[in-house]
Amino acid sequence: MSSELRAPFVAGNWKMNKTRAEARGYAGDLLARLAALGRDDVEVAICAPFTTLDEMVSASRSSRLMIVAQNMHEADHGAFTGEVAAPMLTELGVDGVVLGHSERRQYFGETDRALALKVPAALAAGLLPILCVGETEDERAAGDTDRKLRQQVKEGLDKLESERLADVVIAYEPIWAIGTGQTAALEQAQEAIAFVRALIADRSRDAAARVRVLYGGSVKASNAAELLALPDVDGALVGGASLDAEEFAAIVAAAPR
Ligand code: PEP
Repeated sequence: MSSELRAPFVAGNWKMNKTRAEARGYAGDLLARLAALGRDDVEVAICAPFTTLDEMVSASRSSRLMIVAQNMHEADHGAFTGEVAAPMLTELGVDGVVLGHSERRQYFGETDRALALKVPAALAAGLLPILCVGETEDERAAGDTDRKLRQQVKEGLDKLESERLADVVIAYEPIWAIGTGQTAALEQAQEAIAFVRALIADRSRDAAARVRVLYGGSVKASNAAELLALPDVDGALVGGASLDAEEFAAIVAAAPR
């Protein structure tokens, strides 16, 4: 579907990497590189660990760089030891939150049912939710990719009114491509992302034309241009390659103009 209504979005997911001192150094480096690129047409975000969020927010204050958390609880306060709530993130000046990353689903029991509550809670707090979906290698081999995506997209967005669907960013991340160096073939990425968009169109054609769907899974500077040029791909969620500011800035530069 034509991408005129959708600004490219490139987000770097640091996962559990970088101390506060490292984050500060990276922010200075990345901001200088982004200023030199002059790509104000691309929205750029760093998804940082909780402990570095305030450093990143203050480092990026006079720039367009968005700072995003990697998880949050659906309640806005309560007896949930070890969790972080949306108002705690907005108090820091955080712009968004990654929800349902496959590592959280796989290692920490994140469920579609919880995500259905987290997505509207994030939006209500003024945070941009980045909802991650994607199939395992076995599911793809069994021809189950569409079924898995349908379940994750439908359930994750179940409690969100149609008028707000386009305010979510969806990241299609085939699990077999995350951190493996094995990127999805271009046809696989395009096909899956067009399918995700079609699922949104089932609820609202207008939202489908406006919602941004990213590709994630071993994106790097050398393969970003061809992935980002695919008609339904509106950007990238970048893990390992975002840890290096030079490499990450090169991925931003690869977004189509
Ligand atoms: C990710 O963390 O979402 C990711 C896609 O990781 P990588 O780019 O390292 O595969």
